[in-house]
Amino acid sequence: MFLDYTDEQALVAHTAREFAEREIVPLGERYDFDKPITRDEFREIWQGLLPALMRLLEGMDPKDLDYISLGIFIEEFFKANPSLACTVGMALGPAGTLYLFASDELKARYIPLIVSAHKIGCTAITEPDVGSNPAEVQCTAARDGDSYVLNGTKTWISCAHISDVALVTCRVRENGGEEPGIILVDREESPYASSELPHLGLKGFPTGELYFDDCRVPLCNRVKGERKKGGREGLRMVFQGFEYARIAMALGAVAMAQAAFEYAVSYARERRQWGKLIGEHQMVQEMITDMATAIDCARLLAYRALSLLQQGKRCDREACMAKYFATEMAVEVTSKAIQIHGANGLSEEYPLERLFRDARMFTIPDGTTQIQKLIVARDILGLSAFS
Ligand SMILES: Cc1cc2nc3c(=O)[nH]c(=O)nc-3n(C[C@H](O)[C@H](O)[C@H](O)COP(=O)(O)OP(=O)(O)OC[C@H]3O[C@@H](n4cnc5c(N)ncnc54)[C@H](O)[C@@H]3O)c2cc1C
Repeated sequence: MFLDYTDEQALVAHTAREFAEREIVPLGERYDFDKPITRDEFREIWQGLLPALMRLLEGMDPKDLDYISLGIFIEEFFKANPSLACTVGMALGPAGTLYLFASDELKARYIPLIVSAHKIGCTAITEPDVGSNPAEVQCTAARDGDSYVLNGTKTWISCAHISDVALVTCRVRENGGEEPGIILVDREESPYASSELPHLGLKGFPTGELYFDDCRVPLCNRVKGERKKGGREGLRMVFQGFEYARIAMALGAVAMAQAAFEYAVSYARERRQWGKLIGEHQMVQEMITDMATAIDCARLLAYRALSLLQQGKRCDREACMAKYFATEMAVEVTSKAIQIHGANGLSEEYPLERLFRDARMFTIPDGTTQIQKLIVARDILGLSAFS
């Protein structure tokens, strides 16, 4: 059970913070993260960060490079720049899916290209009429000779417009049957169109739509996974991918809440009203305590889920608990931080309104709060609200 950092993990946290402050925070001066990062900008940023990251990892003890350390890095990256952290996670995410499920040939061809951002990835499940239930996807991949022919629209896809490679969840039609599956579409060999979708927060994080119109993809680009009885490995791959993504989102939410909390603490120690510091008023103290407690709860839930992954165990229930609690918590904590700042909290001159908008983005993706709660209850009760 994870309760606090070991000495080694505390050192990882220190190293990660230094890295974030030295390499990531200054990027805010060179790039405009109030608008979606472009393909060239993302490539330049990631290819600039990679050597420094590799040097850092080389200097670390391999036994410290576990899931908990990865979580610590995620927290620090999000605290330094939430939009960039989301973009990196989603652009590189397909490499993880390929690593787990793809043929050796697809792995060898695409993982190095995606990790180095020579090809920017995206994961395309959601459609205009299909959100919370991926089993209903309508996009089709019909076999025709030595290709699949893809038709359909995907929406709210992270990194859609800057993507070079899309992992598309669709209905695969072949040999007279149909089943859910994942197809890797490489824009260079199988051109597809895309557009940008403006949104409330995380302004630097590009999300958008993908359009497949008789898009021909070689048969070998199907990500097959290991065939299990029942033949629904396409969906199993989608759901297994959510497990880790949900923990990462929980930690991103913790990081944004922590940043807002630290601003609130500083402000409460500086701002005076009624002849004393606002931090000396009891109701401000109550807000500070509520924020600190909620952040701790969310962080512990997230690291508990990570420690289960570290032991090689599935943690769907724990990941869902962490994701829903942490993302809702971040909305509340960033809102309280605005409250402590009074009107200044609403001003664009201060970072609180941005953190609030950024945090608000997280209760929806990778399963809404309601869907996380239904998964937890199904696991506890053995009764499903989905059927
Ligand atoms: C920033 C961001 C990034 C994203 N990135 C990606 C991506 O990279 N790839 C991708 O495929 N998708 C992505 N998405 C889409 C995201 O996964 C979907 O928005 C999400 O699954 C919810 O689907 P929906 O928006 O269609 O809402 P809907 O499914 O239409 O839900 C609407 C409302 O109904 C509720 N609801 C639905 N079903 C139930 C139920 N059974 N019981 C109770 N309440 C229910 C929901 O909780 C919600 O409140 C992203 C979304 C955002 C905001």
